[in-house]
Amino acid sequence: MKVLIIGAGAAGNVVAQKCAMNRDVFSHIHLASRTLSKCEAVQKACKTPIDISKLDADKVAETTALLKKVQPDLVINMALPYQDLAIMDACLLAGVNYMDTANFEPRDVAKFEYHWQWAYQDRFKNAGLTAVLGCGFDPGVTNVFCAYAQKNLFDEIHYLDIIDCNAGDHGQAFATNFNPEINLREVTQDGRYWENGKWIEFKGLTISDMIDYPQVGPRKSYVIYHEELESLVLNLKGLKRARFWMTFGDEYIKHLDVLKNVGMTRIDVVEHQGMKIIPMEFLKTLLPEPSSLAEGYTGKTSIGCIMEGIKDGKAKRVLIYNVCDHAQTNAEVGAQAVSYTTGVPPVVGAIMLAKKHWGGAGVFNVEQLNPDPFMEELGKQGLPWHIKELPLESLRDVAA
Ligand code: NDP
Repeated sequence: MKVLIIGAGAAGNVVAQKCAMNRDVFSHIHLASRTLSKCEAVQKACKTPIDISKLDADKVAETTALLKKVQPDLVINMALPYQDLAIMDACLLAGVNYMDTANFEPRDVAKFEYHWQWAYQDRFKNAGLTAVLGCGFDPGVTNVFCAYAQKNLFDEIHYLDIIDCNAGDHGQAFATNFNPEINLREVTQDGRYWENGKWIEFKGLTISDMIDYPQVGPRKSYVIYHEELESLVLNLKGLKRARFWMTFGDEYIKHLDVLKNVGMTRIDVVEHQGMKIIPMEFLKTLLPEPSSLAEGYTGKTSIGCIMEGIKDGKAKRVLIYNVCDHAQTNAEVGAQAVSYTTGVPPVVGAIMLAKKHWGGAGVFNVEQLNPDPFMEELGKQGLPWHIKELPLESLRDVAA
Protein backbone atom coordinates (compact mmCIF):
# COMPACT_ATOMS: atom_id res chain seq x y z
CA MET A 1 0.00 0.00 0.00
CA LYS A 2 1.12 3.56 -0.79
CA VAL A 3 0.25 5.89 2.07
CA LEU A 4 0.29 9.68 2.47
CA ILE A 5 0.32 10.93 6.07
CA ILE A 6 -0.70 14.58 6.56
CA GLY A 7 0.52 16.27 9.78
CA ALA A 8 4.00 15.89 11.26
CA GLY A 9 2.98 16.64 14.85
CA ALA A 10 3.22 14.46 17.95
CA ALA A 11 0.87 11.73 16.71
CA GLY A 12 1.81 12.03 13.00
CA ASN A 13 5.40 11.23 14.01
CA VAL A 14 4.20 7.93 15.53
CA VAL A 15 2.15 7.05 12.43
CA ALA A 16 5.12 7.65 10.10
CA GLN A 17 7.59 5.71 12.25
CA LYS A 18 5.21 2.79 12.71
CA CYS A 19 4.43 2.62 8.98
CA ALA A 20 8.18 2.62 8.34
CA MET A 21 8.47 -0.44 10.62
CA ASN A 22 5.86 -2.32 8.53
CA ARG A 23 7.43 -2.31 5.08
CA ASP A 24 5.72 -5.60 4.18
CA VAL A 25 2.46 -3.58 4.09
CA PHE A 26 3.58 -0.03 3.24
CA SER A 27 5.63 -0.02 0.05
CA HIS A 28 5.71 3.77 -0.16
CA ILE A 29 5.35 6.29 2.69
CA HIS A 30 5.02 10.04 2.15
CA LEU A 31 4.68 12.56 5.01
CA ALA A 32 3.38 16.08 4.29
CA SER A 33 2.88 18.91 6.74
CA ARG A 34 2.80 22.70 7.10
CA THR A 35 6.35 22.97 8.49
CA LEU A 36 8.95 21.11 6.43
CA SER A 37 11.52 21.01 9.26
CA LYS A 38 9.10 18.87 11.30
CA CYS A 39 8.78 16.43 8.38
CA GLU A 40 12.59 16.29 8.15
CA ALA A 41 12.91 15.44 11.86
CA VAL A 42 10.38 12.59 11.50
CA GLN A 43 12.06 11.39 8.29
CA LYS A 44 15.36 11.10 10.22
CA ALA A 45 13.70 9.15 13.03
CA CYS A 46 12.12 6.57 10.66
CA LYS A 47 13.90 3.22 10.48
CA THR A 48 13.31 2.94 6.70
CA PRO A 49 13.22 5.71 4.04
CA ILE A 50 10.15 7.91 3.67
CA ASP A 51 9.45 10.89 1.37
CA ILE A 52 8.35 14.29 2.63
CA SER A 53 6.66 17.46 1.33
CA LYS A 54 5.56 20.85 2.60
CA LEU A 55 1.76 21.14 2.41
CA ASP A 56 -0.94 23.49 3.59
CA ALA A 57 -3.87 21.09 3.83
CA ASP A 58 -6.37 23.92 4.22
CA LYS A 59 -5.86 24.43 0.48
CA VAL A 60 -7.81 21.76 -1.41
CA ALA A 61 -6.04 22.44 -4.74
CA GLU A 62 -2.59 22.09 -3.12
CA THR A 63 -3.52 18.78 -1.45
CA THR A 64 -5.18 17.47 -4.63
CA ALA A 65 -2.05 18.26 -6.65
CA LEU A 66 0.15 16.39 -4.13
CA LEU A 67 -2.23 13.41 -4.15
CA LYS A 68 -2.16 13.29 -7.96
CA LYS A 69 1.65 13.39 -7.88
CA VAL A 70 2.17 10.80 -5.10
CA GLN A 71 -0.83 8.63 -6.06
CA PRO A 72 -1.32 7.02 -2.62
CA ASP A 73 -3.95 4.39 -1.91
CA LEU A 74 -4.77 6.06 1.41
CA VAL A 75 -4.45 9.42 3.15
CA ILE A 76 -4.02 9.26 6.93
CA ASN A 77 -5.02 12.69 8.20
CA MET A 78 -3.01 13.48 11.35
CA ALA A 79 -3.36 17.28 11.03
CA LEU A 80 -6.06 19.09 12.98
CA PRO A 81 -9.84 18.57 12.85
CA TYR A 82 -10.15 21.91 10.99
CA GLN A 83 -8.55 20.27 7.91
CA ASP A 84 -10.85 17.20 7.76
CA LEU A 85 -13.31 18.47 5.14
CA ALA A 86 -10.65 20.06 2.92
CA ILE A 87 -8.67 16.79 2.91
CA MET A 88 -11.82 14.72 2.22
CA ASP A 89 -12.58 17.03 -0.72
CA ALA A 90 -9.06 16.54 -2.07
CA CYS A 91 -9.37 12.73 -1.67
CA LEU A 92 -12.59 12.78 -3.72
CA LEU A 93 -10.97 14.91 -6.43
CA ALA A 94 -7.91 12.63 -6.64
CA GLY A 95 -9.70 9.29 -6.06
CA VAL A 96 -7.94 8.33 -2.78
CA ASN A 97 -9.25 6.58 0.36
CA TYR A 98 -9.34 8.62 3.60
CA MET A 99 -8.79 8.03 7.34
CA ASP A 100 -8.62 10.37 10.36
CA THR A 101 -8.59 10.35 14.17
CA ALA A 102 -10.74 13.35 15.10
CA ASN A 103 -14.01 14.69 13.71
CA PHE A 104 -14.34 17.99 11.92
CA GLU A 105 -15.04 21.11 13.92
CA PRO A 106 -15.36 24.65 12.66
CA ARG A 107 -12.74 27.09 13.98
CA ASP A 108 -15.28 29.52 15.39
CA VAL A 109 -17.49 27.08 17.36
CA ALA A 110 -16.21 24.24 19.55
CA LYS A 111 -18.68 21.66 18.20
CA PHE A 112 -17.54 18.07 17.86
CA GLU A 113 -20.11 16.51 15.57
CA TYR A 114 -19.96 13.98 12.76
CA HIS A 115 -22.75 15.43 10.62
CA TRP A 116 -20.35 17.46 8.45
CA GLN A 117 -18.40 14.31 7.58
CA TRP A 118 -21.39 11.94 7.42
CA ALA A 119 -22.71 14.31 4.74
CA TYR A 120 -19.90 12.92 2.48
CA GLN A 121 -21.52 9.45 2.51
CA ASP A 122 -22.98 9.58 -1.00
CA ARG A 123 -19.92 11.21 -2.55
CA PHE A 124 -17.57 8.50 -1.21
CA LYS A 125 -20.08 5.78 -2.13
CA ASN A 126 -20.48 7.05 -5.69
CA ALA A 127 -16.71 7.37 -6.08
CA GLY A 128 -16.21 3.80 -4.79
CA LEU A 129 -13.90 5.12 -2.06
CA THR A 130 -13.61 4.34 1.67
CA ALA A 131 -13.48 6.99 4.40
CA VAL A 132 -12.78 5.74 7.94
CA LEU A 133 -13.56 8.33 10.62
CA GLY A 134 -12.11 8.53 14.13
CA CYS A 135 -9.47 5.79 14.01
CA GLY A 136 -7.27 6.94 16.93
CA PHE A 137 -7.57 5.54 20.44
CA ASP A 138 -10.63 7.40 21.65
CA PRO A 139 -12.36 7.68 19.25
CA GLY A 140 -11.00 4.61 17.51
CA VAL A 141 -9.87 1.70 19.64
CA THR A 142 -12.69 2.40 22.12
CA ASN A 143 -15.19 2.00 19.25
CA VAL A 144 -13.49 -1.25 18.21
CA PHE A 145 -13.62 -2.53 21.83
CA CYS A 146 -17.40 -1.88 21.75
CA ALA A 147 -17.84 -3.56 18.37
CA TYR A 148 -15.78 -6.55 19.56
CA ALA A 149 -17.89 -6.85 22.72
CA GLN A 150 -21.13 -6.55 20.74
CA LYS A 151 -19.98 -9.24 18.30
CA ASN A 152 -18.31 -11.70 20.69
CA LEU A 153 -19.26 -11.06 24.33
CA PHE A 154 -22.85 -9.77 24.52
CA ASP A 155 -26.28 -10.16 22.93
CA GLU A 156 -27.06 -6.60 23.99
CA ILE A 157 -24.96 -3.90 25.66
CA HIS A 158 -27.09 -1.74 27.95
CA TYR A 159 -24.59 0.48 29.77
CA LEU A 160 -21.35 1.84 28.36
CA ASP A 161 -18.76 3.81 30.33
CA ILE A 162 -15.60 4.71 28.43
CA ILE A 163 -12.88 5.42 30.98
CA ASP A 164 -9.72 7.35 30.10
CA CYS A 165 -6.92 7.90 32.58
CA ASN A 166 -3.54 9.49 32.00
CA ALA A 167 -1.64 8.77 35.20
CA GLY A 168 1.54 10.19 33.76
CA ASP A 169 3.77 13.01 34.99
CA HIS A 170 5.44 15.28 32.42
CA GLY A 171 6.92 17.57 35.05
CA GLN A 172 5.30 20.74 33.62
CA ALA A 173 2.99 23.00 35.66
CA PHE A 174 0.43 22.92 32.84
CA ALA A 175 0.55 21.23 29.45
CA THR A 176 -1.83 19.32 27.22
CA ASN A 177 -1.05 15.86 25.86
CA PHE A 178 -2.30 16.55 22.38
CA ASN A 179 -2.71 19.73 20.37
CA PRO A 180 -3.43 22.38 23.08
CA GLU A 181 -6.06 24.25 21.12
CA ILE A 182 -8.09 21.13 20.28
CA ASN A 183 -7.65 19.69 23.78
CA LEU A 184 -8.75 22.87 25.57
CA ARG A 185 -11.73 23.35 23.26
CA GLU A 186 -12.78 19.80 24.18
CA VAL A 187 -12.52 20.15 27.96
CA THR A 188 -14.00 23.66 28.25
CA GLN A 189 -17.26 22.79 26.50
CA ASP A 190 -20.46 21.80 28.36
CA GLY A 191 -20.80 18.19 29.50
CA ARG A 192 -23.12 15.74 27.76
CA TYR A 193 -24.02 12.06 28.05
CA TRP A 194 -26.70 9.91 26.47
CA GLU A 195 -29.53 8.18 28.29
CA ASN A 196 -32.71 6.48 27.03
CA GLY A 197 -32.48 8.04 23.60
CA LYS A 198 -31.73 11.58 24.78
CA TRP A 199 -28.65 13.73 25.38
CA ILE A 200 -28.39 15.00 28.96
CA GLU A 201 -26.47 18.30 29.09
CA PHE A 202 -24.79 19.76 32.16
CA LYS A 203 -22.19 22.36 33.11
CA GLY A 204 -18.70 21.09 32.22
CA LEU A 205 -16.66 19.14 34.82
CA THR A 206 -19.46 19.02 37.41
CA ILE A 207 -20.09 15.24 37.46
CA SER A 208 -17.22 13.23 38.93
CA ASP A 209 -16.47 9.98 40.72
CA MET A 210 -13.56 7.73 41.68
CA ILE A 211 -12.84 5.03 39.09
CA ASP A 212 -10.44 2.13 39.67
CA TYR A 213 -8.19 1.96 36.57
CA PRO A 214 -6.17 -1.19 35.74
CA GLN A 215 -2.48 -0.87 36.74
CA VAL A 216 -3.12 2.66 38.01
CA GLY A 217 -5.70 2.43 40.81
CA PRO A 218 -8.54 4.75 41.83
CA ARG A 219 -8.52 8.21 40.22
CA LYS A 220 -11.00 11.06 40.29
CA SER A 221 -12.72 11.09 36.90
CA TYR A 222 -15.11 13.54 35.26
CA VAL A 223 -17.93 12.91 32.80
CA ILE A 224 -17.19 14.89 29.64
CA TYR A 225 -18.64 14.82 26.14
CA HIS A 226 -16.46 12.85 23.74
CA GLU A 227 -17.07 12.42 20.04
CA GLU A 228 -17.28 8.61 19.78
CA LEU A 229 -20.50 8.69 21.83
CA GLU A 230 -22.33 10.20 18.84
CA SER A 231 -21.78 7.20 16.57
CA LEU A 232 -21.77 4.50 19.27
CA VAL A 233 -25.29 5.36 20.45
CA LEU A 234 -26.46 4.72 16.89
CA ASN A 235 -24.47 1.52 16.33
CA LEU A 236 -24.74 -0.41 19.64
CA LYS A 237 -27.84 -2.57 20.03
CA GLY A 238 -30.08 -2.07 23.10
CA LEU A 239 -28.01 0.73 24.62
CA LYS A 240 -29.64 2.55 27.54
CA ARG A 241 -26.85 4.86 28.56
CA ALA A 242 -23.39 5.90 27.29
CA ARG A 243 -20.92 8.13 29.10
CA PHE A 244 -17.26 9.10 28.78
CA TRP A 245 -15.05 9.63 31.84
CA MET A 246 -11.64 11.30 31.90
CA THR A 247 -9.19 11.94 34.73
CA PHE A 248 -7.93 15.45 35.40
CA GLY A 249 -5.47 16.27 38.20
CA ASP A 250 -6.32 19.06 40.66
CA GLU A 251 -3.45 21.18 39.26
CA TYR A 252 -4.82 20.85 35.71
CA ILE A 253 -8.32 21.87 36.83
CA LYS A 254 -6.90 24.81 38.80
CA HIS A 255 -5.00 26.13 35.76
CA LEU A 256 -7.96 25.50 33.49
CA ASP A 257 -10.30 27.45 35.80
CA VAL A 258 -7.95 30.43 35.88
CA LEU A 259 -7.41 30.38 32.10
CA LYS A 260 -11.19 30.19 31.54
CA ASN A 261 -11.93 32.91 34.11
CA VAL A 262 -9.48 35.38 32.58
CA GLY A 263 -10.71 34.72 29.04
CA MET A 264 -7.62 32.91 27.71
CA THR A 265 -9.68 29.99 26.36
CA ARG A 266 -11.98 32.25 24.28
CA ILE A 267 -12.18 31.31 20.59
CA ASP A 268 -13.65 34.57 19.33
CA VAL A 269 -11.58 37.43 17.87
CA VAL A 270 -10.46 40.16 20.29
CA GLU A 271 -8.74 43.44 19.54
CA HIS A 272 -5.24 43.65 21.09
CA GLN A 273 -3.12 46.74 20.51
CA GLY A 274 -4.53 47.21 17.04
CA MET A 275 -4.22 43.52 16.16
CA LYS A 276 -6.95 40.92 15.96
CA ILE A 277 -6.10 37.82 17.99
CA ILE A 278 -7.93 34.73 19.21
CA PRO A 279 -6.93 34.19 22.87
CA MET A 280 -6.98 30.37 22.57
CA GLU A 281 -4.59 30.49 19.58
CA PHE A 282 -2.25 32.80 21.50
CA LEU A 283 -2.39 30.42 24.49
CA LYS A 284 -1.44 27.54 22.16
CA THR A 285 1.68 29.48 21.14
CA LEU A 286 2.71 29.76 24.80
CA LEU A 287 2.06 26.16 25.85
CA PRO A 288 4.53 23.29 25.28
CA GLU A 289 4.02 21.30 22.08
CA PRO A 290 2.74 17.79 22.91
CA SER A 291 5.76 16.25 21.13
CA SER A 292 8.12 18.10 23.50
CA LEU A 293 6.71 16.32 26.57
CA ALA A 294 8.03 12.85 25.70
CA GLU A 295 11.50 13.10 27.28
CA GLY A 296 11.31 12.28 31.00
CA TYR A 297 7.53 11.59 30.97
CA THR A 298 6.80 8.87 33.54
CA GLY A 299 3.69 6.80 34.34
CA LYS A 300 0.99 5.18 32.25
CA THR A 301 -2.25 5.70 30.40
CA SER A 302 -5.07 3.27 31.17
CA ILE A 303 -8.03 3.49 28.81
CA GLY A 304 -10.94 1.16 28.22
CA CYS A 305 -14.65 0.45 27.96
CA ILE A 306 -16.82 -0.87 30.77
CA MET A 307 -19.84 -2.55 29.27
CA GLU A 308 -22.80 -4.09 31.02
CA GLY A 309 -25.49 -6.08 29.27
CA ILE A 310 -26.96 -9.49 28.57
CA LYS A 311 -25.44 -12.70 27.20
CA ASP A 312 -27.61 -15.84 26.89
CA GLY A 313 -30.18 -14.32 29.23
CA LYS A 314 -27.63 -13.52 31.96
CA ALA A 315 -26.39 -10.10 33.06
CA LYS A 316 -22.65 -9.52 32.73
CA ARG A 317 -20.16 -6.69 33.04
CA VAL A 318 -16.83 -6.51 31.25
CA LEU A 319 -13.89 -4.12 30.96
CA ILE A 320 -11.72 -4.15 27.83
CA TYR A 321 -8.64 -1.97 28.22
CA ASN A 322 -5.09 -1.08 27.25
CA VAL A 323 -2.32 0.24 29.48
CA CYS A 324 0.52 2.16 27.84
CA ASP A 325 3.76 3.37 29.45
CA HIS A 326 5.11 6.84 28.58
CA ALA A 327 8.78 5.90 29.04
CA GLN A 328 8.44 2.76 26.90
CA THR A 329 6.81 4.60 24.00
CA ASN A 330 9.47 7.31 24.25
CA ALA A 331 12.17 4.65 24.04
CA GLU A 332 10.50 3.10 20.98
CA VAL A 333 9.54 6.13 18.86
CA GLY A 334 10.42 9.26 20.88
CA ALA A 335 6.78 9.95 21.77
CA GLN A 336 4.71 10.08 24.95
CA ALA A 337 1.93 7.51 25.41
CA VAL A 338 -0.94 9.82 24.38
CA SER A 339 0.69 10.42 20.98
CA TYR A 340 1.53 6.71 20.74
CA THR A 341 -2.00 5.49 21.56
CA THR A 342 -3.30 8.01 18.98
CA GLY A 343 -0.77 7.13 16.27
CA VAL A 344 -0.70 3.32 16.36
CA PRO A 345 -4.45 2.72 15.67
CA PRO A 346 -4.57 4.48 12.27
CA VAL A 347 -1.58 2.34 11.23
CA VAL A 348 -3.55 -0.75 12.29
CA GLY A 349 -6.58 0.65 10.39
CA ALA A 350 -4.43 1.16 7.30
CA ILE A 351 -3.20 -2.46 7.59
CA MET A 352 -6.88 -3.52 7.77
CA LEU A 353 -7.57 -1.69 4.48
CA ALA A 354 -4.38 -3.01 2.84
CA LYS A 355 -5.27 -6.60 3.77
CA LYS A 356 -8.93 -6.05 2.72
CA HIS A 357 -10.27 -6.86 6.20
CA TRP A 358 -11.87 -3.41 6.04
CA GLY A 359 -13.24 -1.70 2.97
CA GLY A 360 -16.37 -0.86 1.06
CA ALA A 361 -17.57 2.34 -0.53
CA GLY A 362 -18.78 5.06 1.83
CA VAL A 363 -18.04 6.81 5.11
CA PHE A 364 -17.61 4.57 8.16
CA ASN A 365 -17.09 4.93 11.89
CA VAL A 366 -14.78 2.17 13.03
CA GLU A 367 -17.39 0.21 15.02
CA GLN A 368 -19.13 -0.46 11.68
CA LEU A 369 -16.10 -2.46 10.46
CA ASN A 370 -14.95 -5.96 11.48
CA PRO A 371 -13.31 -5.64 14.94
CA ASP A 372 -11.68 -9.11 15.11
CA PRO A 373 -8.69 -8.67 12.75
CA PHE A 374 -8.11 -5.15 14.13
CA MET A 375 -7.95 -6.51 17.71
CA GLU A 376 -5.53 -9.20 16.56
CA GLU A 377 -3.21 -6.66 14.91
CA LEU A 378 -3.43 -4.03 17.67
CA GLY A 379 -1.37 -6.01 20.17
CA LYS A 380 1.25 -6.87 17.54
CA GLN A 381 1.66 -3.16 16.76
CA GLY A 382 2.34 -2.22 20.40
CA LEU A 383 -1.06 -1.78 22.07
CA PRO A 384 -1.92 -5.08 23.82
CA TRP A 385 -5.42 -5.25 25.28
CA HIS A 386 -7.06 -7.27 28.03
CA ILE A 387 -10.57 -8.36 28.95
CA LYS A 388 -11.62 -8.39 32.59
CA GLU A 389 -14.95 -9.66 33.96
CA LEU A 390 -16.21 -7.23 36.60
CA PRO A 391 -18.69 -7.74 39.43
CA LEU A 392 -22.20 -6.67 38.54
CA GLU A 393 -22.53 -3.66 40.83
CA SER A 394 -21.67 -0.84 38.51
CA LEU A 395 -21.36 2.80 37.68
CA ARG A 396 -25.00 2.54 36.58
CA ASP A 397 -26.41 4.78 39.31
CA VAL A 398 -23.42 7.04 39.86
CA ALA A 399 -24.36 10.68 39.40
CA ALA A 400 -27.25 9.71 37.16
P1 NDP B 1 0.06 18.43 16.94
O1 NDP B 1 -0.35 19.85 17.14
O2 NDP B 1 1.30 17.95 17.57
O3 NDP B 1 0.16 18.10 15.38
C1 NDP B 1 -0.68 18.63 14.40
C2 NDP B 1 0.15 18.73 13.12
O4 NDP B 1 -0.71 19.12 12.04
C3 NDP B 1 1.25 19.80 13.23
O5 NDP B 1 2.44 19.26 12.75
C4 NDP B 1 0.73 20.90 12.33
O6 NDP B 1 1.71 21.65 11.66
C5 NDP B 1 -0.04 20.12 11.29
N1 NDP B 1 -0.99 21.01 10.63
C6 NDP B 1 -1.85 21.88 11.19
N2 NDP B 1 -2.51 22.57 10.26
C7 NDP B 1 -2.07 22.10 9.06
C8 NDP B 1 -2.36 22.42 7.72
N3 NDP B 1 -3.26 23.36 7.39
N4 NDP B 1 -1.70 21.76 6.74
C9 NDP B 1 -0.78 20.82 7.04
N5 NDP B 1 -0.45 20.47 8.29
C10 NDP B 1 -1.08 21.11 9.30
O7 NDP B 1 -1.19 17.58 17.41
P2 NDP B 1 -1.26 16.00 17.76
O8 NDP B 1 -0.30 15.26 16.90
O9 NDP B 1 -1.21 15.87 19.21
O10 NDP B 1 -2.74 15.66 17.27
C11 NDP B 1 -3.00 15.39 15.91
C12 NDP B 1 -4.46 15.00 15.71
O11 NDP B 1 -4.77 13.87 16.49
C13 NDP B 1 -5.47 16.09 16.14
O12 NDP B 1 -6.46 16.18 15.15
C14 NDP B 1 -6.07 15.56 17.39
O13 NDP B 1 -7.39 16.01 17.59
C15 NDP B 1 -6.03 14.07 17.12
N6 NDP B 1 -6.09 13.25 18.35
C16 NDP B 1 -6.88 12.13 18.34
C17 NDP B 1 -6.93 11.32 19.45
C18 NDP B 1 -7.69 10.05 19.43
O14 NDP B 1 -7.45 9.19 20.27
N7 NDP B 1 -8.62 9.82 18.52
C19 NDP B 1 -6.19 11.64 20.69
C20 NDP B 1 -5.33 12.79 20.56
C21 NDP B 1 -5.30 13.57 19.43
P3 NDP B 1 2.69 22.69 12.42
O15 NDP B 1 3.71 21.81 13.04
O16 NDP B 1 3.21 23.57 11.35
O17 NDP B 1 1.82 23.40 13.43
